[in-house]
Amino acid sequence: MKKCKFCNSNLEKKINTFNFKLLKSNGIFYHCLKCKIFINFKISKEKIYTKNIKNLNVSNKNFLYYLKSIFFLIFYLRIKPFFPFNKNIILDFGSGSGELTNLLGFFNNKTFATDFEFNRYNYSKKIKFIKSKNLFNKNNNNKFDMIIMRHVLEHILDFERLINKLKKLLKKKSGTIVIEVPNYDSIWNKILRGNWPGYFYPYHHYVFSEKFLKKQLIKNGLKLIKINKAEPPIFGAFFYSIGLSRNLSRLLSVICYPIQILVSKITFKSEALILFVKND
Ligand SMILES: [Zn+2]
Repeated sequence: MKKCKFCNSNLEKKINTFNFKLLKSNGIFYHCLKCKIFINFKISKEKIYTKNIKNLNVSNKNFLYYLKSIFFLIFYLRIKPFFPFNKNIILDFGSGSGELTNLLGFFNNKTFATDFEFNRYNYSKKIKFIKSKNLFNKNNNNKFDMIIMRHVLEHILDFERLINKLKKLLKKKSGTIVIEVPNYDSIWNKILRGNWPGYFYPYHHYVFSEKFLKKQLIKNGLKLIKINKAEPPIFGAFFYSIGLSRNLSRLLSVICYPIQILVSKITFKSEALILFVKND
């Protein structure tokens, strides 16, 4: 029987989830009731992060693109009070398609981005790309006022190792790490079960609870400044997982978003957690 690698208890409960790579329901997460986490141990043998990141040319900057920009602007305004200075050096670790990175670059004087792949066309000219091997190289002298990891940590099997490497890149006293992850206690997890996009199998290795993540971060020498709740839209991925087309799923996601927020807010079980931590 599988054991939890954090508390060593037997993992009896399995959750069958949708597999977003193979587009069928064959994903497995284990549930540690003691730690309050879901774990996916499986390491994919093939490369699961494919190379063809889409270009954001003018023609696909549609209504949904601008809606997404508003969403990221709200995220930016929420993290802004935690910037130590007016002009900051920022790292967007796991920058993905770059929308948030561009926004960070627009408001700050130096913004770096790190990811597996980097499509220059998606990023504004101000953004500097730094490969993770150079970032963690001993000769790298870049220190950051803020490191942002938005929906990244749940992808990393050895997330504690990553946290320890990243905290060394913070400016000693002023630097902050911002971590956003799906919430174990999400109400929509209970409703949608294996089709809840928070599992996002095989890409996600964990679904963290507030209690667990707090404890692990403190254990790794970080000081918790604040925890916020967030409501990233989930219904696009949900409708896609039940067989609807990508475009229709996106449209329905926008329509369902007010209902998603309402249910999350009245039950006090938000979709995502945002943690602000500093070096202890
Ligand atoms: Zn455990």
